[in-house]
This record gives sequence, structure tokens and C-alpha cells, in this order.
Amino acid sequence: MILIKDANIVNEGSIYKGSVLLDHEKIQEIFTGEIPGDILSNSKIISGEGKYLIPGVIDDHVHFREPGFTHKADISTESAAAVAGGVTSFMDMPNTKPQATTLKLIEEKFKTADEKSLANFSFYIGATNDNMDELLNASPKEVCGIKVFMGASTGNMLVDNNDVLDKIFSLSKNLVAVHCEDEKIIQENIAKYRNTQGENIPVKYHAEIRSAEACYKSSSFAVALAKKHNTRLHLLHLSTARELELLDNTVPAKDKRITAEACVHHLWFDESDYEKHGTLIKWNPSIKTIEDKESLLEAVIDNRIDIIATDHAPHLAEEKNAPYFQSMSGGPLVQHSLSIMLELYRQKKITFEKIVEKMCHLPADVFKIVKRGYIRKGFYADLALVNMNQPCTVSKENILYKCGWSPFEGVTFHSKVTHTFVNGTLVFENGSFNKTVKGQALSFLK
Ligand SMILES: [Zn+2]
Repeated sequence: MILIKDANIVNEGSIYKGSVLLDHEKIQEIFTGEIPGDILSNSKIISGEGKYLIPGVIDDHVHFREPGFTHKADISTESAAAVAGGVTSFMDMPNTKPQATTLKLIEEKFKTADEKSLANFSFYIGATNDNMDELLNASPKEVCGIKVFMGASTGNMLVDNNDVLDKIFSLSKNLVAVHCEDEKIIQENIAKYRNTQGENIPVKYHAEIRSAEACYKSSSFAVALAKKHNTRLHLLHLSTARELELLDNTVPAKDKRITAEACVHHLWFDESDYEKHGTLIKWNPSIKTIEDKESLLEAVIDNRIDIIATDHAPHLAEEKNAPYFQSMSGGPLVQHSLSIMLELYRQKKITFEKIVEKMCHLPADVFKIVKRGYIRKGFYADLALVNMNQPCTVSKENILYKCGWSPFEGVTFHSKVTHTFVNGTLVFENGSFNKTVKGQALSFLK
């Protein structure tokens, strides 16, 4: 047994002093008063004194690039980066090579993760214009959701056939997660900026090319379709103030039919950062105005937005450092997402309890994950211990992503994850990993 002793436990809306006993994979007991002597003498004790103990972060949106793009990232490197950042479960997107659009390919991903992942995992199945049977046969208890790119160009996964969308939205028993940007508006904007700027468009125009209008047109369409069919819809990476009017905060996240995600980069960066970071902060959807950024955080706090995630999407530095049209969109984030949010807590923009709610509790509620996301007796012991006064400057030496860079290089985060437990195993301790035990497939109550 392991006893995490005298930590400040951040869980279910409060912070209190306590100790947590782990037995095998699960949380055996939570003590707030005296701890029985036999437990003290029979347990390996890890001091939580002065530190904060949270449920492990559940990131519902990552691209770990395996199979097919393992020069950028793979499940073993990125899951290690995840646990170093306090992330104990992830849900991976289907735009790998081959794309995960069949049950057979999904099964292969689960098998790879079984062998290689330090964190717990699940995988989305990708929708295309012609794989309806595969989508409907994917078990909602095992596959976290159906990913639909509505008007975003990602190979053959752009679903642009309205009959197909109608079918997916009306027939899916699983959660439908959507990337919303209207491709037609984007193409018109590209043509317009090409006319005035030529081929080497300054990246600051990315916010106007992949515009707020393109986002709203697509996400409002998705919401209308979901309302028509009573679909369980999840809006990924919202990036604009305007889209927030589509959301509701009158019911708890677990009862919503339409839920939403914000990503850490949209809460941290705004268009004034393009000058300094250039194409390194080129994302789809784009980083937009300061008003958009501030409105997104407001919506996280007032519960219109349910989940904070990363959209961790690594590319090599040379794939990013290229002229506008050649530079790939996306960037690595999963090692630093908790630190980013805790920095916003230090700046008094959000409470610690709210961060834990949006990064740990609600991903479990929204996806109906079995026995994770909370520090509760009988739940899996997925936990992170955080030192709030251990400054660390992001640099090439401490970046764990396979791609070897971060848009946060040079930034000093004041908090640091010192210990991460996955299913009761201490997999990360002060910079060292125990790679002998692997994570598990998440299961869902659907
Ligand atoms: Zn993504």
C-alpha cells in the first residue's frame, strides 16, 4: 500500500488537508483525521506536506501521431510527457496514417497503447463520407467518440456530405466530437489574402483567414443539427467569443446534450503573440483576439465551457518554421497544460478548484468514464502531486516531446508536478519514470 500523507487535497470544489491510501489500482481510503498505526507502519509513505494532490488530468483531445507520423511523436514519448505534466488519461484523435476510420485500425491502436502507453487511453473513430457501418458498430463503452471534421480539410476525413452528417447525428449512440471551421469561408479568405500579400502571408493574418466567422458558421450548424436530432455533441477547441452564445450553463455538464471544450493555447495566447512566436503558434482553429481569449476563460468559469484540453498536436520544428502556407498547424502542449492553467491561477484569473473541475472531473463526467476523474474511495488511483513553489523554465533540456520544442520555451512556470500515479503505480517521480507498468484502456458508461 502507498500512503500519500498530509497533502492539500483539491477535489470536488474544495481544498482540505488529508492523506490518501492506495491499494493496488484503487483508492482504498481518504483520511482527514488520525491515520491508524497499522496503516502507517504497513505503507510506503510519500509526503504530500505543502503540496497539492489532484485527480490525474484527463485530456480528451490529443494527437500522438501513431501510427504513420512517428517522426513527430509516438505513444510512448508523448504519454511520458503527459504523465510528467500530471495527465493520467488521454483520448487520441484519428488523423493518423492510416486514418483510424475502421474498427480494425482502432483495435490496432488500442494494442499499441497497451504495449507502450504510460497513461490510460482511448481512441476516437474518424468519420468519413462513407464509413457509416464502422461508426455505428464502434462500441460506445470502449471508443470514446466519433470525430467529425466539419469543414476542416484533413484528407478524406472532411465530412461535407449533408446526408452523411444527418445520419451520423441522428443514428450515433456515441458522443460526436466536432472540429468546426467552414472550409468555404477559409478558401475565400485565402484567395483574398493571396491577392494582397502574395505567397508569403504574414502569420498574423491567420486569425482573419481562419476567421471567427468560419468558426461560427460551422459550429452553429453543428449545434442546430444536434438539436434537431438530440445528438450527444461535443464541440472541440472553441476559439471565439461569438460561439459561446451557442452554449448553455443551466444544467450540469453530465446532463448536457451539447458540451464544449477550450484548449490551453486559446486561453493563453492572443493575436498580439504572432509577432513574437510566428508560425510556432499557428493552430487550427487560429489564435484570435484578446477579447476572444478573455471571453473563453469567462465561459470556462461560468460553465458554458465544460472541459479544458490541449489539442496536443506535435510537428517537427522545421515543419513549423516555414512560410505561411507550408507551415503545419498545431503544437505540442500535453506536458505543460496543467502548469499553464496553474499559472493563470497564480494570476488570480481562475481558482484551483475550477481548474481541477475542468481538467479532471468534467472530462470524466462528460464522457462517462468509469471510476476516474475524482479522488474517491474505490476509484482508480490516478493522481498528481503538485508543488506550487517549484519554478521551472521550459527549455530544450526539460522538454519531453519527441519533436523537442515547445511554444513555451523560455517561460517560467511556478508549479511543478513532482509525482504522478496511474492506476496506483507511481509512474513519474521528480523527473524519473517507471516504465514497467502500462496504462489501461478507459471504459465508458454509455
Ligand atoms: Zn485536434
